[in-house]
Amino acid sequence: MQTPTNLNRRSFMQIATVSVVGLALVAPAFNAIAADLPHLELDNPTAKALGYVEDTTKVDAAKYPNHKPDQICSGCALWQGDAKSARNPCTLFPGKSVANKGWCASFAKKA
Ligand code: SF4
Repeated sequence: MQTPTNLNRRSFMQIATVSVVGLALVAPAFNAIAADLPHLELDNPTAKALGYVEDTTKVDAAKYPNHKPDQICSGCALWQGDAKSARNPCTLFPGKSVANKGWCASFAKKA
């Protein structure tokens, strides 16, 4: 006879297994979709206002004195997805992809 604890453990293991398999199937699809998103245009008004660049080494240091060279989009809390991807979505720019080594003034270091 199974106790409620055994049932709960079994249910947990079933849910965990389904979740892991689901993530393994969804992650590549997410990366493929992200790669297909249009690039954030440098003349996008919000991108311009935030000083977005595709290469963090090109940030205007005079205009953004708090910028640091190790601040890149893939290290930002708003970057969505795999840190190794060349491009991914950013929650600040829906429907667009930003560059892995990019930067903007809204950079917030990932926790
Ligand atoms: Fe990159 Fe973060 Fe700015 Fe988005 S908010 S463009 S991920 S630095």
